[in-house]
Amino acid sequence: MSGPNTQYDPVEVAALDPAAIEQAVQGALAAITAASNLDELKTVRTAHQGDKSPLALANREIGALPPTAKAEAGKRVGQARGQVGAALKERQSELEAERDERILVEEAVDVTMISGRNPLGRRHPTELMGERIADILVGMGWEIAEGPEVEAEWFVFDALNFDADHPARQMQDTFYIEPADAGLVLRTHTSPVQARAMLERGAPLYIGCLGRVFRTDELDATHMPAFHQIEGLAVDEGLTMAHLKGTLDRMATELFGEGIVTRLRPSYFPFTEPSAEMDLRCFVCRGEDPDCRACSGTGWIEWGGCGMVNQNVLRACNIDPEKYSGFAFGMGVDRALMFRTGAADMREMIEGDVRFNNQFGMEI
Ligand SMILES: [Zn+2]
Repeated sequence: MSGPNTQYDPVEVAALDPAAIEQAVQGALAAITAASNLDELKTVRTAHQGDKSPLALANREIGALPPTAKAEAGKRVGQARGQVGAALKERQSELEAERDERILVEEAVDVTMISGRNPLGRRHPTELMGERIADILVGMGWEIAEGPEVEAEWFVFDALNFDADHPARQMQDTFYIEPADAGLVLRTHTSPVQARAMLERGAPLYIGCLGRVFRTDELDATHMPAFHQIEGLAVDEGLTMAHLKGTLDRMATELFGEGIVTRLRPSYFPFTEPSAEMDLRCFVCRGEDPDCRACSGTGWIEWGGCGMVNQNVLRACNIDPEKYSGFAFGMGVDRALMFRTGAADMREMIEGDVRFNNQFGMEI
């Protein structure tokens, strides 16, 4: 066991030599001042404050000194490290301030600058589709008629030959306006406009009715409580199913392309006799793809209903069924829009997402 080294001379321990420590401090301070950005300062910090820096090595050697020498050496090294630490801290905040200032300048946004990307609004695709169908009718010389959405029950049902106990009159299908005995409903189809037109104008008559209709359906991918219909009504002498079929084929071709025709399947509606469901030749595969998703491989897509105007309806609207006959048809505008856009979910049409409008709300 060796005795305490009372004759300690700092010079004997090279790292603790005051001159060496002063040199380490000066080297550190010069490097800190020279650091021109935060990355450089980080490197300087590692070199002059890190575990392997001269001052850290000196600090570690203090422990090996005799007790009498520890205090002085510790003070010297501590001061030196403090000096370097303070200089690092000061340079750090200087460089941070410089960086922040530079970012403010470089990333400044001129809010007064006129943007070249002002997004243009688009009309709603449903409205455009309705107008497009209406335009086809107008092109054939028809007129467009309008009527109220809150309508007398008489126009919605009675004038159109609905029996008093017809299921469509039930509360679960139709929105009634309070008080219940007021005889007012939200129209369930646009046909009351036809009844009004027949009463007001008489025959001959060629009109299209476009508008919103309402049924108590839950909102889901294929149903909406408020949706859009377009109906056509022609009343004239000598009109037959052939005129109806020709009109529908013309509309299908105009809307969906050359060669797209309709077919009729027997059906029943109170206001037409005979009545038919109309199908549209699949405009995607034209009936040639058994795996087509649009028509499920059948080649046909359901489009709406039609028929020859029931003589009871003509009579209710003061038109002589012995002299005149008429045909009528109706189809969902939203459904036609689904076909044309490929939208799988009707809710996309009413959610108000501008991306839907932007994509489909422009006619070329
Ligand atoms: Zn198909």
